[in-house]
Amino acid sequence: MKIRVAGVKKESLIDGPGISFVIFTQGCYRECPECHNPDARPLEGGMDFTLEELKEEIDTSKYVDTLVFSGGEPFLQAEVLARLGKWAQQRGLKVVTYSGYTFEYLLDKSNEHGTYRKLLEVSNILIDGAYVSEERDLMLAFRGSKNQRIIDVKDSLQREEAVIMEDYG
Ligand code: SF4
Repeated sequence: MKIRVAGVKKESLIDGPGISFVIFTQGCYRECPECHNPDARPLEGGMDFTLEELKEEIDTSKYVDTLVFSGGEPFLQAEVLARLGKWAQQRGLKVVTYSGYTFEYLLDKSNEHGTYRKLLEVSNILIDGAYVSEERDLMLAFRGSKNQRIIDVKDSLQREEAVIMEDYG
């Protein structure tokens, strides 16, 4: 199984809590003004990595305690990312997933797209919502604009409503 990837960052302190290995997935249907990663938008861009190649890369990053799926739009490759996320959690890593879609949208579409649910279930944290330039705020943890939320996915799936993690403001 392969993942179409725009790039990776091996030890990031800004994309999630702790020290993160970040995978920027390739492909996004949105056209957010001032998109933070325009090279990651074309579906045909980037390069293919096998799951095994990415696992090896993650394993060489010995200080990493978090795996981050950013984009692009990670939910376009939800099935394969869910597999990688499950593997990461079994190794004790936290999983943080970004999405331009809201938690409510992803939950609503989970019956239609079972893979959305799988990716949510292996994500400890979801950072949701598209970047909105009018709501840009450089002081926010892990986000670019105020509409984006940091969500505790396990609690949110249990309650079927978004539970915001207040620790990050
Ligand atoms: S969701 Fe992210 S990658 Fe997609 S257009 Fe918006 S800012 Fe760019």
